[in-house]
Amino acid sequence: MKLLITGGAGFIGSNLIKIILKEFDYKVLNLDKLTYASNLKSLEHVQSNSCYDFVKKDICDFNSITEVIKNFKPTKIIHLAAESHVDRSIDLAKQFIQTNINGTYNLLEASRVYFENLEGEEKKNFLFHHISTDEVYGSLNEDDEKFTEKSNYDPNSPYSASKASSDHLVRAWHTTYNLPIIITNCSNNYGPFQFPEKLIPLTILKSLAHQKIPVYGDGKQIRDWLYVEDHARAIINTFTNGKVGETYNIGGNCEKTNIEVVSIICGLLDKIVPSKKIKKYSSLISFVKDRPGHDRRYSMDISKINNELNWSPDETFDSGIEKTVKWYLENKDWIKETIEGNYDLERLGLNVAE
Ligand code: NAD
Repeated sequence: MKLLITGGAGFIGSNLIKIILKEFDYKVLNLDKLTYASNLKSLEHVQSNSCYDFVKKDICDFNSITEVIKNFKPTKIIHLAAESHVDRSIDLAKQFIQTNINGTYNLLEASRVYFENLEGEEKKNFLFHHISTDEVYGSLNEDDEKFTEKSNYDPNSPYSASKASSDHLVRAWHTTYNLPIIITNCSNNYGPFQFPEKLIPLTILKSLAHQKIPVYGDGKQIRDWLYVEDHARAIINTFTNGKVGETYNIGGNCEKTNIEVVSIICGLLDKIVPSKKIKKYSSLISFVKDRPGHDRRYSMDISKINNELNWSPDETFDSGIEKTVKWYLENKDWIKETIEGNYDLERLGLNVAE
């Protein structure tokens, strides 16, 4: 099995690659542009693995990716490369349209040409697995039913609209050109190696720096949290056992408000690294003006993947968040290197000196 994984130097991609190389005998080619959100240090333990290779390419460059696919001859393509941060999509929408929509189109076209020239077993086994988000379904009220694979698409942010567009393209390439595809839509991930602009690592790092912890609006927005390794295993299960042409929802069965998540992290830090300056890290919580178009609630019905592929999350939020907090405490070099790379530090407003 030869897997071409796009976006493998990001948060989910790097966790996925490490699990695949540890548990399977597959060859992996990681194709990544290495944007600010990536860090090859996340993959340093696999860099010398003979089953692993990396190529720095932009999915928006059609000729380059066509060449990579032609030379590598993947059995399956797992497409994770994307611009992924909602806040940035509000200020920098163009980049999201470019990568998430045009980039996915390029990859689909290059895959279609490659697929049409395959024969026999190679043709039978080929798959384009598109990794997407629950945000394409829009926002739920507190008493609404969870999102199923049949829920209407109703995206509200430039990020979710660009991912929704890419999902539609992927489905169209299946229906129109018979490209074998699967789409998985997953809820909010957390865990080691997540870029510090996202809620959980940002809360940990702001707390440790004794800076205000920003919480949007009333903090009562609900997300369905999934530990990243559970997502990685769901992806592997799906591209191995899933049915071509289908969509599978993936989620943690773990709805929490943002303020609950932030408070849990502060409580853990009080226990593990009590501050000498303040009594409780939660005293740093600061409610800030809400994000425009902020979705109120996401929640995934995971009965399809559970019934058909026998997948469910292993990690509870309590165990996963404790592992995550400890990982950020023990990996200060990774954090420093990640945010001091090509990132606009002012946007993050994070003091890493402490
Ligand atoms: P990330 O931002 O951490 O990583 C994205 C990776 O894609 C980076 O390594 C980046 O360098 C690469 N990339 C960006 N533009 C590229 C381009 N033009 N060409 C090649 N590579 C490019 O994102 P993540 O959190 O790991 O998310 C991965 C995928 O999973 C995304 O498609 C995202 O929409 C989806 N997803 C994420 C979550 C989540 O909670 N993080 C939840 C559901 C779905």
